[in-house]
Amino acid sequence: MTSYMTKRDAVLKDPAASFWLKTAISALERRDPVDAFNDAEALRKIAFVRMETAFRSPDFGAGADYHCARCGNAVMTDPQREDMQIKTRLCTGCWLRACEELRERRMGRAA
Ligand SMILES: [Zn+2]
Repeated sequence: MTSYMTKRDAVLKDPAASFWLKTAISALERRDPVDAFNDAEALRKIAFVRMETAFRSPDFGAGADYHCARCGNAVMTDPQREDMQIKTRLCTGCWLRACEELRERRMGRAA
């Protein structure tokens, strides 16, 4: 399998990867590789400015459904992750780190 196929399959199988990203991958594969890469670079730059603008906004987090119990980041409930979000009150990043820490503790105990 090519490096691209390996990376692509890893994202598509990752339950933590967003539906948006998975949809973008299938859209990517319908484009010319060079054109798609250039457009993705342009999108990354636009997304960065949008994120910075959102962080500076006094309303940042105002529309959030809750704040992460670990890092305090504002979190909007995502229908794909709602069960996990309601149970843990964590953002996705903290939830993944918590899972990794739990796995490491279990492995440490088993050793
Ligand atoms: Zn968090």
